[in-house]
Amino acid sequence: MLEHIKIVLVNTSHTGNIGSAARAMKTMGLSELWLVDPVNPIDEQAMALAAGAKDILEQANTVATLAEAVADCGLVIGTSARSRTLSWPMLDAREAGEKAILEAPQHKVALVFGRERTGLSNDELHQCHFHVAIAANPDYSSLNLAMAVQTLSYETRMAWLATQSQAADIASYESESYPLSQDLERFYSHLEETLLETGFIIKPHPGQVMTKLRRLFNRARPEDHELNILRGILTSIQNPGRKSNNNS
Ligand code: SAH
Repeated sequence: MLEHIKIVLVNTSHTGNIGSAARAMKTMGLSELWLVDPVNPIDEQAMALAAGAKDILEQANTVATLAEAVADCGLVIGTSARSRTLSWPMLDAREAGEKAILEAPQHKVALVFGRERTGLSNDELHQCHFHVAIAANPDYSSLNLAMAVQTLSYETRMAWLATQSQAADIASYESESYPLSQDLERFYSHLEETLLETGFIIKPHPGQVMTKLRRLFNRARPEDHELNILRGILTSIQNPGRKSNNNS
């Protein structure tokens, strides 16, 4: 189950933090590390701080965008030290660990961490189903990046251990089949394209409509077959009058 959970570090500046994050992961049994556009590649400093977790650095994947890192994930949880203007479904660290473990048998899960100074951008946060804030001192809530990775990894391990010790039959959790992030992104592009065509969104003044619609659909978490219906509706708007048998 833990193999299905990936840690994604976005645009990290300090390679030492990458190494410390790898160590934090390995101590908690996590192994899949993705680096999105790191400022510097893995170097000696990263290796030194990884200590016994060098294997995780050696196997880490490096990609250019967050979308690529989470494309194959069915659940994406983003971390943030502060709440943003547009509120999003929130979890605390414990709930995030539990949710990750609950869903890991069904699909890959990403825990996403931001830049040391500025965190995740709004655009990146909007690619997440949930946001998690570690309940810290409100007057000083910003943890070191690797410490935040440690905290979330620990909660994930605790949730996993609970399933082991209670012999909870996770397999019996009859989960719906959720679309992958890349399928949701295709839907959002299709939706935006359709709304531009109908004139609901006006290109020079798009406003926050797409962000708010993303929030709506991410909150609703459409299942695979529901997303297919939505795609079918968009196609029918683009081709009015054409008979379809998709509306079952
Ligand atoms: N000023 C930045 C802080 C970045 S700290 C911000 O507002 O987000 C670097 C990263 O560590 C964050 O992007 C997040 O991934 C993680 N982090 C730090 N403190 C956290 C907290 N209290 N809750 C959740 N994640 C936290």
